[in-house]
Amino acid sequence: MKSIRNFVIIAHIDHGKSTLADRFLELTHSIEKRKMQEQYLDQMDLERERGITIKMQPVTMRYEDGGEDYTLNLIDTPGHVDFSYEVSRSLAAVEGAILLVDATNGIQAQTVAHLSVAIEQGLKIIPAINKIDLPQAQVKEVEEEILSLLISMDCDVNEIYKISAKTGEGIEDLLQGVIKEVPKPEHKPDEPLRALIFDSIYDDFRGVISYARIKEGKIKGTDKIYFMGSKEKSEAKEVGIFTPQYKKKEVLESGDIGYIVSGTKEIETAGIGDTITFQEEKRRAESPIPGYRQPQAVVFSTIFPTSDSNYDDLRDAFDKLKLNDASLYFEPEHSAVLGRGLKAGFLGMLHMEIILERLEREHDLELIVTAPSVAYDVKLTSGESETVFTPSQYPDPSTIEEVKEPWVHLKIIVSPDYMNNVMSLLKTIRGEYKDTEYIGTGRLRINYETPLAEIISDFYDNLKNVTSGFGSMAYEFIDKREVDLVKLDILLAGDEVPALARLVPKDEADKSGRKLVEKIKKVLPPEQFAVAIQAAIGGKIIARETKSALRKDVTAGMYGGDYTRKRKLLEKQKKGKKRMKKEGSVDLDTDTMMKIFQ
Ligand code: GDP
Ligand code: MG
Repeated sequence: MKSIRNFVIIAHIDHGKSTLADRFLELTHSIEKRKMQEQYLDQMDLERERGITIKMQPVTMRYEDGGEDYTLNLIDTPGHVDFSYEVSRSLAAVEGAILLVDATNGIQAQTVAHLSVAIEQGLKIIPAINKIDLPQAQVKEVEEEILSLLISMDCDVNEIYKISAKTGEGIEDLLQGVIKEVPKPEHKPDEPLRALIFDSIYDDFRGVISYARIKEGKIKGTDKIYFMGSKEKSEAKEVGIFTPQYKKKEVLESGDIGYIVSGTKEIETAGIGDTITFQEEKRRAESPIPGYRQPQAVVFSTIFPTSDSNYDDLRDAFDKLKLNDASLYFEPEHSAVLGRGLKAGFLGMLHMEIILERLEREHDLELIVTAPSVAYDVKLTSGESETVFTPSQYPDPSTIEEVKEPWVHLKIIVSPDYMNNVMSLLKTIRGEYKDTEYIGTGRLRINYETPLAEIISDFYDNLKNVTSGFGSMAYEFIDKREVDLVKLDILLAGDEVPALARLVPKDEADKSGRKLVEKIKKVLPPEQFAVAIQAAIGGKIIARETKSALRKDVTAGMYGGDYTRKRKLLEKQKKGKKRMKKEGSVDLDTDTMMKIFQ
């Protein structure tokens, strides 16, 4: 029987996960040296450029130690808060996790959140401090933090690996640690098949390929399969492992991690967290692997092409992206001013940004994007209820009985030096302070409850600003609570711009209106004419700013003295401005839009 170890690396963005994976690949000779390039497993260009890993390719490595031949399966956990459900499913597919912490940065909020899930699921945690080659490394402090977080696991300071993924120091020790400490998977090849899908991707030629952990049983490339969550049937076409390229195998069995070409074209059929078993009744598993749920969009926005003639292109592009992303939700929407568009739902702001960037870059589309919103549960006086996430859908206020919005538990990690700044920042959002706890001796975790709407746009940036980039945050849903909402309209040069409308709490409407017009004034590129920026509620103006005109200096280059000529030129320019002002309307590009929303 093979000696298998299945593990993940839990790390904050930039703490060195990809670099560490590179070292493992080298050490196990999984990649020929001449093919090795940095961050080998980061497949998408976008990920490389932005330095964020959305999904890293899983990989199976071979390693010999003490005469024994080991199979090591490394799979990924995305580091970002938007993808926490996917993280929980990857964690369910393995027995161990390397907790990787940057020695110069310390542990970050999202890492703590993932770590608690890993501990809850009973994973063996192997703590490692990375970047010890750097002079500013604070190994002692980070050790304390790790110890305080692993207190329930009775972790000793000697059990923390100190490594440099860059120089390779300590890497082999760590890999041997994985072999020694991570339990080998349970071997149950004779039970009914249960394979846990932790990722699914769409391939143009082969349809949906599911990445799965075989919990029990065996699967061959010809088996008739059944998805227990989506209740769909299909026929497998091929199974195999990641080298990291696909390598066909006869069979995958209990303990293995590999891919299943699942014979379907619909990504929703093979959703993350679903369980694959057999179609045949008597070979079927009794119950699915727990923890499956449909992806939950939390941020919504409507996307319009700048020209209506591109609507079909936008739709096609969404269809293509959706092939690979079951969490992407969209449906057609029509606006009197902006024409045809798509109402779309995302897992969070980063997810939204990535999709927009891909639409523009890979599909060459110019877009108008409305302010992101959360989903509000609206109960009408008629007794009906609806979910509202665009201001244009908002019902007539006189027909509304009650509105509820999602609340989250927000956890922020900072050093005490920044505590006051963070508390002041927290005062600017709605919500309720809970408490503060120590992590190690040098840092604090602040617990706060707040409506999700308060943190989806610029909160994270503001947190970074007030903590010199050191603060980090994570959040989880609590429940839905009542809120008194109004629709805030924005007018530019006297014209209502529906894309800029938003739903805001009534008590905050004046403040939001003022803030928004100030922000628009700041980011709006100047026009040839002055632009009035106004915020209104139910037709009543509540805030106003003016963006001055872009003034061409027509007198530049003229010698002084000729006053009349100068006057004449300025007069002429003024007239030109008047004319333009009459025809003037403001065009907003996507870039400016995103700046307004962020
Ligand atoms: P990821 O976002 O967790 O995948 O992090 P990366 O592997 O992309 O690393 C982020 C940055 O840190 C890159 O510039 C790496 O070269 C650098 N880095 C990673 N590990 C080390 C290390 O041990 N020492 C030093 N000095 N830099 C490192
Ligand atoms: Mg990476």
